[in-house]
Amino acid sequence: MGSTPNTTKAALAVSGQAVMVQFCELNKIDVPTVEYHTVDKWPFDVCGYYRPTTINICVPKCAGIGVSGAAWSFPGHVVDRTPYGVITHELGHHVDVQRGRVVDRYRSDFSRQMRQEVGEPKLTNYCPDDGEWFAEIFRLFVTNPDLLRGVRPRSYAALIERGLKPLWADDWESLLAGAPDRTIALCRRRIEAGV
Ligand SMILES: [Zn+2]
Repeated sequence: MGSTPNTTKAALAVSGQAVMVQFCELNKIDVPTVEYHTVDKWPFDVCGYYRPTTINICVPKCAGIGVSGAAWSFPGHVVDRTPYGVITHELGHHVDVQRGRVVDRYRSDFSRQMRQEVGEPKLTNYCPDDGEWFAEIFRLFVTNPDLLRGVRPRSYAALIERGLKPLWADDWESLLAGAPDRTIALCRRRIEAGV
């Protein structure tokens, strides 16, 4: 395996926003605005949030590419709290609101019904409600569709059924090029165990 790419948080925000625009164009979704905030004007614990129709993000508060601990972040990984993953997670809230009929602030009946229908467990530990369950799954649909198909097949199928198109047909390992061996091994175990 190659070494972990030297990718800064700022570069991950640029690529996250580019992928967001690409996904919206492919799927004919209005592109949300992205507002970047500095730490001194950011009183929140979270590193990003969505309010129709703006993604707010504080890049310095996001994770960098992981180097230790159980929850290593990597762009395109199941766990991704880098700016790349945060922007695509917030895009999930945007799609939820755009596609829903009954909207409650930054979530809607779109995510609630999909969760009821597929009944799959949360993707990561961050899952306080149906909207966040959806946004985490949606993030992986955007950043590594083949990996989502491996770990949450019914959610992947439900997104396809709802007319959403993935950006890439590449296999999940190619979309994790440069990731640490440990990240690849964890994904393989999760696919095999279906968790
Ligand atoms: Zn969220």
